[in-house]
Amino acid sequence: MIPVNPQTRTTLLLDFAWQPVATITARAAFLHLIRGHVSCLDKEHQTFDSMNHWLEYASLYEDQPALRSAKTLWPIPTVVVVTSKFYHKPKKTKMSINDLVRYYKNTCQYCLEKFPFAELTIDHIIPKSKGGTDEHSNRTLCCLKCNQKKSNKIPFFNIKNQPVKAPEVPKFIFEHDEIRKEWEIHI
Ligand SMILES: [Zn+2]
Repeated sequence: MIPVNPQTRTTLLLDFAWQPVATITARAAFLHLIRGHVSCLDKEHQTFDSMNHWLEYASLYEDQPALRSAKTLWPIPTVVVVTSKFYHKPKKTKMSINDLVRYYKNTCQYCLEKFPFAELTIDHIIPKSKGGTDEHSNRTLCCLKCNQKKSNKIPFFNIKNQPVKAPEVPKFIFEHDEIRKEWEIHI
């Protein structure tokens, strides 16, 4: 076990359908487990519905995150599944430039060519000067050249002469790059 800061995002939260929702902190995972809000998965993919069972029977990873109290280490599950009503579906959010670059694999949505991160920018599909908003539905990924060429023209189509749309917001956006091995089958 590895003692971690309670604010470290150690745990993947799955919804009722076992779809990934978010990563949560060790502290949040611990509290949800104590309160019976989640069941947790161990190394062998067994599920545990209570803290007692988890502490007694779970098989742990070598690098299982743990919270330290005065007397003991509490192993924190790295995957938990929602079992109660505490869970509210998160609202759709905007994708950041990082999210868009990852989502489109560095591809400008106008010329459809790939560019390094530094040469890409967020494009407002309907330019702000023409009443476009900064909402997710009006944002896409664009290279600097196309951005310049487009300026405030509308409509401005891509190289295949098709209109450009904002991407579907993925249900789950990773806020950090570190992915635990056991998360991979869920995401
Ligand atoms: Zn381009």
